[in-house]
Order: sequence, then C-alpha cells, then structure tokens
Amino acid sequence: MDSDPPKLLLIEDDRSIRRFLAISMESNGFRITEADTAESGLRAAVSEPPDAIVLDLGLPDGDGLDVIRKIREWSAVPIIVLSAREREHEKVLALDTGADDYLTKPFGVGELLARIRVALRHQASRNRKESPVFRTGDLAVDLGRRIVTIRDDVVHLTPTEYRLLTALVQQAGKVVTHRSLLKTVWGPDAVHENQYLRVYMGTLRSKIEEDPARPRYLMTEAGIGYRLTDSPPES
Ligand code: CA
Repeated sequence: MDSDPPKLLLIEDDRSIRRFLAISMESNGFRITEADTAESGLRAAVSEPPDAIVLDLGLPDGDGLDVIRKIREWSAVPIIVLSAREREHEKVLALDTGADDYLTKPFGVGELLARIRVALRHQASRNRKESPVFRTGDLAVDLGRRIVTIRDDVVHLTPTEYRLLTALVQQAGKVVTHRSLLKTVWGPDAVHENQYLRVYMGTLRSKIEEDPARPRYLMTEAGIGYRLTDSPPES
C-alpha cells in the first residue's frame, strides 16, 4: 500500500493550468484525477477518495469554500487551496474552513509539490503513533516531558509561550491562521486579539531564533498567520 503512488484530486476549471499541473505532478510520481467544477470534484472525492486535494477557489459552479466545507463533513484529507484572487481574507477563510495550505497564483510547480508532500507527511504522521519529540533543525520540542531545547540547550518558556509553540508544532509545516492560534491558546473569546500573538511571537522568537529579525523556524505569513517550518534552511 505504501508503494502505491499518492492519489491527487485536482479541482481546477482553467484547462491549461489544470493540464499543466496534472502533467507535472504525474511526472513526479503522483496519480491524478482531474475535475473542472465543484460538483464533479465533490463527486470524484466521494467515489475515489484521494490522498490529497488541490482545489482552485474560483470555480464556475460554486465557491471553493463550499467544497472544503462539504468535504470536511466526512473527510480529513489534506486540501491545498489555489487562489487567483490575492485577497487575504479568502485564504484565511479557506484555512479556517479546513484547508491545510494555500498557494497564490502564479506559483511554481516545485512549490506546489513541496506543499503537497508536507501535507501528505503530516497526514501520515497523524495516522501513525507519533514520537512525543518533535524536531526541526536545531529545535526539539518534547511534548511528553514539556521540554524545549535549541541546540541541546533548554529553553525556558512561560506556559502561554509553550502553548503557542505546541499549537504550531501540531500543525508543523502548515500555516496556522491568527484566529486559529488565538482560539487554541487563549480561547474563543480572544480570536480578535491579534496583539497577543504579536507580543508572544516576539518573545518566543527571542528565545528560539538565533536572529529574531530573520527567523528560521517561526515564519510570518503576512495578514494570515504563522508557520512553524518543518524543514528550515541551513544556517
Ligand atoms: Ca478558476
């Protein structure tokens, strides 16, 4: 089963983009099902459940957000959203609706493939019995013992800083929206308190990052949220 090529469902109405992506992804070892409408995409997702879905938000017969909502009623399959409209609120809505990641057109195929692999890895580790220690670069977070180290030095975090970091660890590699982080760390009443995040992300970076102004781990996704990178560039 592990040797089966991953199955991707590509829902995109622009024929030239769809064909180009399908060919690129097939040549990278994926099996592709193509759909050009929200309805045919949903049908394909049900009849032949894919390992991941790449979804264009602007579809002729409906909103991509509705597609996410409907799929999330029964499936946790990774969904990567493509947005032609560079409107931040749409990406945020898509992520809060249950999408795992997004790319803004135009994007490189390499970037899309990287995001798909992150999503598949994340899904696989969710299905596995996880090691309680999360590692990325020099950062290690021992979720069992609640110990954070950077280059083997223990980092002393306040309970709130620790909750914020673990909220990102649980979604490592993926962008987590401001709203989602605020809700997880401070509770549902705090979802608009973006300044909490700015303050705590600042202190977290000062404790973890070598150069907080040029973070390697705790990345800002402007206007959307934060991403804990699960494969930091070499320093
Ligand atoms: Ca479109």
